[in-house]
Amino acid sequence: MKYVLAFSGGKDSTYLLYEILQRKMPLDEIRFLDASLEYPLTYEWLDTIEKRFGVKITRYRTDIKFMDLFMRIKTRGKKKGMIKGFPPSNRGCWIQTYMKLKQKPNGKDEMMYIGIAANEKARTAKYAKNILTPLVDWGITEDMIMERLQALDLLPPYYQMGFKRSGCWLCPYQPRGSLYLLWKNFPDLWAELKRLDKLSPHGFKDGTDLEKLEVRFQNEPERYAPKFCKVCGLPGVRLGRMKKQQDYCARHKP
Ligand code: SF4
Repeated sequence: MKYVLAFSGGKDSTYLLYEILQRKMPLDEIRFLDASLEYPLTYEWLDTIEKRFGVKITRYRTDIKFMDLFMRIKTRGKKKGMIKGFPPSNRGCWIQTYMKLKQKPNGKDEMMYIGIAANEKARTAKYAKNILTPLVDWGITEDMIMERLQALDLLPPYYQMGFKRSGCWLCPYQPRGSLYLLWKNFPDLWAELKRLDKLSPHGFKDGTDLEKLEVRFQNEPERYAPKFCKVCGLPGVRLGRMKKQQDYCARHKP
């Protein structure tokens, strides 16, 4: 039996890797699926993890290019003759389908660890028997993971900037706060997003006006910028029904 960790570079899979190594659990491969659209920080983080733990992360990348798919002409339906454009924000993501492929075990002889926190247990309801979710089994929630990663000096750098998740920089599912960080910290990627927006037959996130959004970011940064802990400067936790970000982190909350 081969044991594989599905590693995204996010906080949950980073913490799961730490626990697997600490507990000396079986682990034959650390697998990262790359659509070549991650933030540069994610690729740097993979190198950091390899050095810190003395492990190898196997990167899998498809030969399919994002721009080839983005520019592909539709041959059927109402949009026949138009290019494909951005992945829609209200249906499955074609980047996931064609370029990233789903993280799943490669046959019955493979067991796959997936970093799902205990508060997301509902996502595991339909998982096959050869998918293991130890963080759920151990009752470790996202807040606990943030707190422990901070204490271990293992919080991925994009979380330190205020991002809430890892993934593609042009992900249509990302919230406004994440787009603010993209605009603020990665001007080249933001400019590329605007360039693609002009090409796509439907706008980014199915109609978000990036020019207007940019003006709002400039005029109302306090509305979009992440909050940071007054004690340690790391990202604040989100609480309440509206999940408003607080000015204290998981470790320093009162
Ligand atoms: S991070 Fe977003 S854009 Fe990238 S594959 Fe996942 S859903 Fe698609």
